[in-house]
Amino acid sequence: MNCPNCTANMEKGKTVLTFQMGEEEIVVVRDVPAMICDQCGEEYVDSDTAKQVEEKVERALADGIKMGFIDFNTAA
Ligand SMILES: [Zn+2]
Repeated sequence: MNCPNCTANMEKGKTVLTFQMGEEEIVVVRDVPAMICDQCGEEYVDSDTAKQVEEKVERALADGIKMGFIDFNTAA
């Protein structure tokens, strides 16, 4: 696919997504599959992946995690 930002080619890669919920809860999700622009670094996470990430974050918060890292590929 092409970058929505600069139209350069995007390559498969990994990114890190940070979610801040409320004032104190911060969950960082690592190893998230994404398309990354060669040129400008724009990152694109598809909606299926974004949904899975959200579910992981919600589960972590439900488990009482206030601050932490989750690896996307870890079944938590
Ligand atoms: Zn770009």
